Order: sequence, then structure tokens, then C-alpha cells
Amino acid sequence: MVSNNDKTVASKLSLKLLIDTAAQKVLFAEAGKEVVDFLFSLLSLPVGSAVKLLSKDRLEGSIGNLYKSIQELDPSFLQNSEGKSTLLNPIGSISPSLLLPGPSSSSSSSKNVYFQCANSNYSSCNAYVSKVNGVLCPNCKNRMSKQMIYVKGDEREDYVDPNVGFVKGVVTYTIMDDLTVTPMSSISSIILLSKFNVKNLNTLVERDVTLGFDEALEVLEISLRSKKVLTSVFLGKK
Ligand SMILES: [Zn+2]
Repeated sequence: MVSNNDKTVASKLSLKLLIDTAAQKVLFAEAGKEVVDFLFSLLSLPVGSAVKLLSKDRLEGSIGNLYKSIQELDPSFLQNSEGKSTLLNPIGSISPSLLLPGPSSSSSSSKNVYFQCANSNYSSCNAYVSKVNGVLCPNCKNRMSKQMIYVKGDEREDYVDPNVGFVKGVVTYTIMDDLTVTPMSSISSIILLSKFNVKNLNTLVERDVTLGFDEALEVLEISLRSKKVLTSVFLGKK
């Protein structure tokens, strides 16, 4: 079942792939600001968050074992219990609309529900609000689970503010299979085709794809170990 939230994400994060069907690979993709902002935001992700998002088993290296070790370490070895929670749930915001709300946390009304710290002891907790139920309050580290209802004003659906994020919105960007990102120009596409040594243009097809939650996780995972990210994620070649 496709949730409402996923559809919202998908409608924003779309890419146009140029696929070499003979070689079964993605040559490059064209995408707008939102996709590029998502890719760059991966760099701001704490390693602990990446481990948590991908789950230990999906990681090829050893970093997952560090995560598992602190997870399983008896509290009696720790200076304080907060340290464990900080390591296991690092506060790192990356494209919150994309990676943080998991598929299970969305419902038809999830767009208009926010969460505040449930701890009523500190009024300074009220400065924080999250779209995700249960994240840790930056002030007191309690769960943010007190439901708040968003009051809608006069605003456009799906409006992407060109002034937020990392890159400017007026340009289309070229994303290579290895996630090299450059601003696109019509000349560079032709140069790219010759660089790829494409002999038969008939083998090339364009395909529009969307970057949803699952694909975003795959991009993160595969980018840590491979230079064929788009091919792996969108053509299913692991
Ligand atoms: Zn709090």
C-alpha cells in the first residue's frame, strides 16, 4: 500500500534516467534541486544514524558491530545512560521529509500532525517540534510523542522553497551513476554520450523514476560501497 506521505515525497523527488539497455546500466540522471539536496544531505548524516537507518545487517563493513556492541553493553559499564542513547539515536536531521519518517509512520493525516516533547517538567522543551513520533527531545532526551495538530494557512501544496537546502533551484543537475553531481547544460550531455562511447543511440532509453523512502535507503547503502549507485537502485542490479 502506498501511503499518502510516500506519494508526497515521490511527486517531488523524481529523476529522468538515461539508460543504456544494451549495457544494462544507467549512464546518468537528470534531476532538480530536491534530489541533489537529498544526496548532499547524506554527508551531514551522523554515522550512527546511517547505521540505524540501514540496520546493522545491511551494512557490509564493521561499523554495524560498533553499534551492536554499545546496544548490548550492560549499563553497569557506562558512565551514564544518556551516552548510550545519544550514540544509538544521534540527532541528525537529513531531509526530514524524506528519510526520517519511515513508511510505517505515515498515515493519511500524518502530514498535519506534529509531535512535541511529552515531558511537562521543562517549558523549554516546547521550543521543539517534530514530524516524527517518538524522536528524542533535544532538550531533555525524552520521547517527543505529544501530538499537536498543524493549522493550515493559505499555502501551496508541494511548494518547494528554492531558498532552502543546499543548491539553487533554477538549474537541472546531472547525476552520474557514481553520484558525481554537476549542473547540467545541453552541451555537456553530448560530451557525456561520447565519453560513454555509446555507438548505437537506439539502445538508449529515457525513464522517469521516483526516489521514495526505500530507494533513498538503497542510495545511502549502495553509495557506501559501490560506484554504480543509480544502476543498482533503479535497474535492480546488485
Ligand atoms: Zn523535552
